[in-house]
Amino acid sequence: MDQGSKHAVLKQYFGYDTFREGQEFLIDTILSGQDAVGVMPTGAGKSICFQVPAMLMDGITLVVSPLISLMKDQVGALTQSGVPAAFINSSLSSAEYREVLFDIRQGQCKILYIAPERLLAEGFLSFIREQDIAMVTVDEAHCVSQWGQDFRPSYLEIDRFVKSLDSRPILSAFTATATEQVRRDIVGLLDLNEPEVLVTGFDRKNLYFEVQKPPKKLDALLAILADHPDKSGIIYCATRKNVEEVCEKICAAGYPAVCYHAGLPDAVRKKNQDLFIFDEKPIVVATNAFGMGIDKSNVSFVVHYNMPGDMESYYQEAGRAGRDGEPADCILLYSGQDVRTQQFFIENSDREGGDPETNALLKQRDRQRLKDMTFYCHTNDCLRGYMLKYFGEDAPVCCDHCGNCQTQFEILDITIEAQKILSCIKRTGQRFGIKVVVDTLRGSKNQRILGLGFDKLSTYNIMADISEKRIRDIIHYLAMEGFIHITDDEYPVMRFGPRARDVLFGGERIEMKLPKEREPAPKSTGGK
Ligand code: ADP
Repeated sequence: MDQGSKHAVLKQYFGYDTFREGQEFLIDTILSGQDAVGVMPTGAGKSICFQVPAMLMDGITLVVSPLISLMKDQVGALTQSGVPAAFINSSLSSAEYREVLFDIRQGQCKILYIAPERLLAEGFLSFIREQDIAMVTVDEAHCVSQWGQDFRPSYLEIDRFVKSLDSRPILSAFTATATEQVRRDIVGLLDLNEPEVLVTGFDRKNLYFEVQKPPKKLDALLAILADHPDKSGIIYCATRKNVEEVCEKICAAGYPAVCYHAGLPDAVRKKNQDLFIFDEKPIVVATNAFGMGIDKSNVSFVVHYNMPGDMESYYQEAGRAGRDGEPADCILLYSGQDVRTQQFFIENSDREGGDPETNALLKQRDRQRLKDMTFYCHTNDCLRGYMLKYFGEDAPVCCDHCGNCQTQFEILDITIEAQKILSCIKRTGQRFGIKVVVDTLRGSKNQRILGLGFDKLSTYNIMADISEKRIRDIIHYLAMEGFIHITDDEYPVMRFGPRARDVLFGGERIEMKLPKEREPAPKSTGGK
C-alpha cells in the first residue's frame, strides 16, 4: 500500500495529520484484503478506519448501521467534506430513494449507509448485486449478538446478504463492546474470514475517574458544578423522573441546563439537544437515551447521578467527556438504592418474543454485569485499572489519575470482622441477602430479624459498634476477593465463597484498604 495515499485521504477529507492508535493497523488490514474487527470505545475514531479505505478502494462500501436517526447527519458531514456518500433507510421518499440508486449507478457514491432491514429488500438486492461492492462494514456490530446490549435480529441478515452476492467483498466490523462472548459472535455470525481483531484505546488518559458515596447526592452534584464553572457537562440519571427533578433543582441554583429523555416530545428533545450542542445550555441532564452518536468535543465533565447497570454503559457514557483531549472528570455518585433500581430494571426486562430460557439466561448475565458495575463502585484499588481489566486491556496497578489513586488509604486488618460476617452468614443458613446479615450483626430489632428468631443467634449484635456502611464496604470487599459469594438470583443471597474456609479455619489474615477518615482527597485537575 502506498503510504502516502491513506495519509493524503486523511488530510484531504478529514483534515487530520496523523492516525490515532489502532486506526492505521485496521486500515492496512482492510486494504490488504483481509477482514477486520475493531473494538474501540466510543469516540476513539472507528469511522475513519472504514471511511479512509473506502475512499482508496475501487467500488462502493456499504456501511450497515442501526442508527437511522444519525445516518443523515453522518452522511451530511461526509458530503460536506467532499466524500461522495448517501444513505438508504425508511425515512427516504421513493423519489429520494431512486435518486440515491441513480447516483450509485453513476459511480457517484463511495460510501452508502444502509439500515440492516433494507439489505434483503428485493428491489435493492437485485440492484446492488449489479454494482461493484468493495467492502461491507458493520457498525455497532455487537447488535448481531444476543449477548450484546442491543440485539437486532435484522443484523443476522447481513450474513445472508453477503452470501447472496456473486463475489465476496471484504468484511469489517466495529463496536465498542468488548466482551469475549460478543466478539466471538461477531466473528461467527457475520462469518468473518480469519479477521484481524484489534482491541484498543480503552484507556482515555485525559479522563479522571472518581466514585463518591455522598449522603446527599444533590449537594455533591452542586459542589461538582461549582467546581466546573462555565464548563459543558452531562448529568446522567437512571429515570425520567430523576432527570426532571435534578434539572429543575440545578436550574433553580442558577446553572444553564436542559433535560433530555425519551418521554419528551420529539421537538423538545431535538431543541434541547441543539441548545446543548451549541453551548447555549452547556449542561444537559439526561437518561441513557441521550448520547448515541452525539459528537460534542468540549464536554468537560460527566456525572452519573445514579449508577448504570453495567460497565459497558458506564464507560460509553462517561467516555463522552473530554473528546477534545482536554482534562475532563467522570464522577459517579453511588448509593445502594441505585443497585436496587438496576435490579428492578433487570427483573422487568423480559424481551418481547424471547423464549423463557433465553430470557432467564439474559437476566443472569445482566445480574453478573450489575455485580461487576457495583464492584467498580466499591473497589479501593485503581479505578482505571479495574476498568481496563474489565475490557480486556492491560492495566496499571496505579494510574495516579483517579479518585482512588489520589486518596490516602490506610491498610486495616479485617480478619476478625470477616470471621464475624462469615459466621453470621453460616448461622443464618447461607440463605439471606446483605440486609438481613448486616441487621443481625448490628443487633437490629426490626420485625424481620425478630420474626426469623435471629436475635437468638450467637452472631446477633456482635458488630453493633461498626457502622452499617462500613460493614457493607467490608462485605463487598470480601465478595470481590472471593471470601463471600453473592448469587446471581433475583434476590441475591450470600454464601461462602471459595476462600471462606481459609479465613474461618485456615488462619488466613485479611487486609483491606480503607480511606483515611476525614482526610480530604486532593482535588482533580480536570475541567478547570
Ligand atoms: P467512534 O465511532 O469510535 O465513536 P468517531 O469515528 O465518531 O468515533 O470519532 C470520534 C471523533 O474523533 C470524531 O470527531 C473524529 O473526527 C475524531 N477523529 C477520528 N480520528 C481522528 C484522528 N486520526 N485525528 C484526530 N481526530 C480524529
